[in-house]
Amino acid sequence: GKWVYSFGGGKSEGKSDMRNLLGGKGANLAEMANLGLPVPPGFTIPTSVCTYYYDNKNSYPKELKAQVEKALDAVGKITKKTFGDNKNPLLVSVRSGARASMPGMMDTVLNLGLNDVTVEALAELAGDKRFAYDSYRRFITMYSDVVLGFDHHHFEEILDTYKDNKGYSLDTDLDGDDWVHLVGKYKEAVARETGSDFPQDPHAQLWGAIGAVFSSWMNQRAITYRRLHDIPESWGTAVNVQAMVFGNMGDTSATGVAFTRNPSTGESKLYGEFLINAQGEDVVAGIRTPQDITEEARIESGSDKASMESAMPEAFKELTRIYKQLEKHYRDMQDLEFTVEQNKLWMLQTRNGKRTAKASIRIAVELANEGVISQKDAITRIDPAALDQLLHPTIDPSAERDVIATGLPASPGAASGEIVFSSDEAAKLQADGKKVILVRIETSPEDIHGMHASEGILTTRGGMTSHAAVVARGMGKPCVSGTGAIRVDYGRGTMTIGGRVFKAGDIITIDGSTGQVLAGRMPMIEPELSGEFATLMSWADKVRKLKVRVNGDTPEDARTAIKYGAEGVGLCRTEHMFFEETRIRTVREMILAEDEQARRAALAKLLPMQRADFVELFEIMHGLPVTIRLLDPPLHEFLPHTQGEIEEVARVMNADPRKLADRARELSEFNPMLGFRGVRLAIAYPEIAEMQARALFEAAIEAAKRTGDAVALEVMVPLIVGKVEFDLIKARIDATAEAVLKETGGKLNYSVGTMIELPRACLLAGEIAETAEFFSFGTNDLTQTTFGISRDDAASFLGTYIAKGILEIDPFISVDRSGVGELVKIGVARGRKTRPNIKVGICGEHGGDPASVAFCHQIGLDYVSCSPYRVPIARLAAAQAAL
Ligand code: PEP
Ligand code: MG
Repeated sequence: GKWVYSFGGGKSEGKSDMRNLLGGKGANLAEMANLGLPVPPGFTIPTSVCTYYYDNKNSYPKELKAQVEKALDAVGKITKKTFGDNKNPLLVSVRSGARASMPGMMDTVLNLGLNDVTVEALAELAGDKRFAYDSYRRFITMYSDVVLGFDHHHFEEILDTYKDNKGYSLDTDLDGDDWVHLVGKYKEAVARETGSDFPQDPHAQLWGAIGAVFSSWMNQRAITYRRLHDIPESWGTAVNVQAMVFGNMGDTSATGVAFTRNPSTGESKLYGEFLINAQGEDVVAGIRTPQDITEEARIESGSDKASMESAMPEAFKELTRIYKQLEKHYRDMQDLEFTVEQNKLWMLQTRNGKRTAKASIRIAVELANEGVISQKDAITRIDPAALDQLLHPTIDPSAERDVIATGLPASPGAASGEIVFSSDEAAKLQADGKKVILVRIETSPEDIHGMHASEGILTTRGGMTSHAAVVARGMGKPCVSGTGAIRVDYGRGTMTIGGRVFKAGDIITIDGSTGQVLAGRMPMIEPELSGEFATLMSWADKVRKLKVRVNGDTPEDARTAIKYGAEGVGLCRTEHMFFEETRIRTVREMILAEDEQARRAALAKLLPMQRADFVELFEIMHGLPVTIRLLDPPLHEFLPHTQGEIEEVARVMNADPRKLADRARELSEFNPMLGFRGVRLAIAYPEIAEMQARALFEAAIEAAKRTGDAVALEVMVPLIVGKVEFDLIKARIDATAEAVLKETGGKLNYSVGTMIELPRACLLAGEIAETAEFFSFGTNDLTQTTFGISRDDAASFLGTYIAKGILEIDPFISVDRSGVGELVKIGVARGRKTRPNIKVGICGEHGGDPASVAFCHQIGLDYVSCSPYRVPIARLAAAQAAL
């Protein structure tokens, strides 16, 4: 078998598409050598040897040894040195390199091949004792750490004590004799602590390092990292052995790292750092302050240390030529490592660079404009979920995090503020100019004003579609829900996690994009929408087939959504319009009404309020389709629950508290989500639906008058199980329309359709489509009812299901294709069979989830509808699905 792949001297046995075999680093080194770039020669022991090693009780294929020897000879020929030679020794680096970059594994051993004899030869050849012994002590440190398992802090202690005694402050203050002395001390420490002398045989050193790389594949940190990032154990790692080049050979030598474009802003400028007379980790380790690479960057940073451009003009020119070539070749921004040895540049690594969401957009758009990639490439390169970062403040990634608990990432963005445990308190503090985080066990309509007043919402119960989550998303506020580890004690005004207690007034931060809850105030990065963002979205719009609408209940939602490119309202939850304080009182009057007449009186008061809201919404949407859903929530949600609340409300309403309590009890349900809600309300109290329909039609006529554009109104009935319910309500709606038309003499453009959000409705969709003019799949309720898992109570056990691999992902986040998705497909097929051009969309939370959007595209829906801030995500995901 072939177990070794050589590179260097202008050619190599591997190339960049052999990543699976050679690992990322090995494949790119081979590719750079093939391109004729200055890469120190070397060889890669491929991942297949790692697999062999673990399949064969930690042993190597028998041909490996001879192949390594041969490859070492080849490297020696190119460098004109010999591994293990006492006069002219070849020194090597040994690095791990899996397919995916994997922190937690053995990383690097430099200067391997040095021992008490070869170090003298190196000093002689370089004419520099300091350099040789500095290299030797680095080797002893790294090798002891990663191969012998002897922690490097032992050496740091020895070094620090020595520097203190001598009055040195920097490592570079030490001369050759200092390092000779320290190397002696280091070796003594190794012998004392490990019971054997530091290995002197270069071949033994090499096999020790190779073995350390392979065994680090199975260390605990690597296993954990693989689990967190879904990297299969079977991939294995490769080992790269490469001739050393020295950045620590005095002032004409250096080592550095660079990005071909700025990784945080995306600006097309070489960005990086280097250190003169340094090796390997020195740059990232922060021992000395690194220097800027370009003169422009130096001027900007105000540094008084020379840039690479001015200190090493030749090497800089070469780096500039190479980085441009590499970027063109790989068609992406590169992350480079290089070393300069006596003014000659050597490339040690190239790979696609990590970047922020903002930078990723700018880079993709600019690469497309430069003709390096196509517009389609640009679209597919952006992770739609990462757009969240652009639309909301995010926690500064460089800040240290004290994570106290993790809940569900219910509504993206991050916010800091004082803890408050009640909505009234939140409103009060906000009025005083304070920033607060509302912490509740769960939220209800009573909390809307508190949620409005808060920077963010944290709940300990409830899932991704709980009240808190849905409302917060609509408001564009961060929310972490279902944080079960937190105990809230309203009485004491505390929340407790493990042993830690937080009181009202303590500052916390929540990150609704990750679900993290953190102690203290965190530095934030504010979002800003760039020109490149708009360009990318316009490219996406050209290719996507799905339309994107918004789930929005307020004029503010509608305006945000229009700004983000929504093409209509897919769901207006009218109950959210009743949550405002003055209105909720009238709603309660309506609920408490003894008979139809009293109920109609209360409804008559609500009508003008609804009408005014609708007029504003229609005006903003300016002729785009608007789907308005009839009242959906269980009525008890509008009633107070505790004795104190009941008395307070009774006083304000001038009602009998006992009667109020009775009615609240009467309406209270064991399973409100499966109870008296949706169309069931309209069936029992058709006058509610009539009032809403009247408000809608009157508003549509009014808005059309003001804007000059007819309102494309879609009236939607929620939670039906079949055609009969739908027809009963549709008859009322049509009759109301007719009445309004007669009274006003205006014109209307409306259709009546239904939510399909129960399994029975999916199955009977063919029949329902006989009268329903459009379908909107409510995948929140459809998921709840298909799984038989309560939307509000799922958080307590879904986590376990995911941890145990029973479910891959929370089905309330990403649509369950095989179950819920199948029901949607059935519903679409049966509906279209009856009414071939019936409009079908989805308005569950899944409408903003990229994987679910892809599914909606596949099954041929007409549109997805999602919360305002997810509209751009859906647009991009829809474009990617279409490519
Ligand atoms: C749904 O059930 O998917 C839906 C959109 O309605 P709601 O979340 O209001 O029940
Ligand atoms: Mg629903």
